Amino acid sequence: MDKLTIRDVDASGKRVFMRVDFNVPLQDGKVTDDSRIRAAVPTIRALLAQGARLVLASHLGRPDGKVQDGLRLRPVAERLSQLLRMSVPCTGDALGIGTEDAIRRLRPGEALLLENLRFHAEEEANDPAFAKALASYGDIYVNDAFGTAHRAHASTVGITKFLPAYAGLLMEAEIKALSNLLEDPARPFFAVIGGAKVSGKIAVLEHLMDRVDGFIIGGGMANTFLLAQGKSVGKSLAEPDRVEEARRILAAADGKGVRIVLPVDVIVAKEVTQGTEYKTLSAEKIPASWHIVDVGRQTLALMEEALEPARTVFWNGPLGVFEIPSFAHGTNAIARYLADRADAGTTVVVGGGDSVAAVTQQGLAGRMTHISTGGGASLEFLEGRELPGIAVLLDRPPVDEGVAPVGAQAGR
Ligand code: ADP
Ligand code: MG
Repeated sequence: MDKLTIRDVDASGKRVFMRVDFNVPLQDGKVTDDSRIRAAVPTIRALLAQGARLVLASHLGRPDGKVQDGLRLRPVAERLSQLLRMSVPCTGDALGIGTEDAIRRLRPGEALLLENLRFHAEEEANDPAFAKALASYGDIYVNDAFGTAHRAHASTVGITKFLPAYAGLLMEAEIKALSNLLEDPARPFFAVIGGAKVSGKIAVLEHLMDRVDGFIIGGGMANTFLLAQGKSVGKSLAEPDRVEEARRILAAADGKGVRIVLPVDVIVAKEVTQGTEYKTLSAEKIPASWHIVDVGRQTLALMEEALEPARTVFWNGPLGVFEIPSFAHGTNAIARYLADRADAGTTVVVGGGDSVAAVTQQGLAGRMTHISTGGGASLEFLEGRELPGIAVLLDRPPVDEGVAPVGAQAGR
């Protein structure tokens, strides 16, 4: 990897300002899914073991610059304290005398969590004075918040003007897993792309076009492709204004010998609700008054047959309206299939909030090669865009030939 990481720095005795992505779901003051907190624990442990004095910072939700009691980070600090088996207090505000005092009292091996950064509008505005105030809490800066790396905010970009900036271990793992897909995937390489809309994914499809052997397309976005093939989709979610782009993608794939698998049979429902009437139909004849809500069994068999030889798979986006149990079959089946393939040695990377949720709900996350913690960030990365929060991290200096670089065996 061409960015410096916490492996390249001795943090002992230093104050480390670490940006984490603790934007977790809360219910009744409790964290309902702590995956993002767990994902940052290896970096936190490594820094504390070195004797760092650790200042953690995150946003939570969209308070838009105002204090909202329901978006305080205390429940997150409590969950983190349990995971680390040590007390990690949360400050009452990201700024202020009390916070400065608490940081001054931190001893090596101790950590605290700043209150929700987005209680200050200056965070999202990337305000230089706010960034400077945050920077005054640390001697070095570590970013482990891959999920916010596509945003240029004070705590992800502005702060790096004032402090040397390193990648955390989670950030490093994300960059490695995703750049491997773009640069050197074991072939055949297939991308399974689903989800609601084609509009958000066209750039990814286009950037991956030269790199994949095939696209497996499902979910709501497949409907726009069905329209592009001249089929009708009834009342299904579709984007008629994107049909032209879908047609262009089909033609490009055809020209490059990239295989495209689209639904051949689908589950259609009277309404997109639980308990409604539904049935399986051929994708050739969707009646006007029905909604496509999932892929059918023939389609799943076709998808699995296409994925059989794959040595690398990227999956983003559910194959159906998986929030409704009757329409979750396709999504759950592909998740199980990919977990089996990962067990057998295929590199399987899953990215996207909803696809990751589907994998996690089935307890399959541990079996995948890499689960990206960034939804929007992972898609932007795979579109080939430079993420601002990654661009500002220190570059690894070029090494003289013949001299073994530090951590060279860690690979790219
Ligand atoms: P991810 O978060 O994994 O990137 P998206 O946000 O793009 O995925 O899409 C997830 C949403 O797509 C889910 O809410 C799901 O209900 C919806 N979806 C999938 N298939 C369909 C469909 N056939 N019709 C309507 N919505 C669909
Ligand atoms: Mg989503």
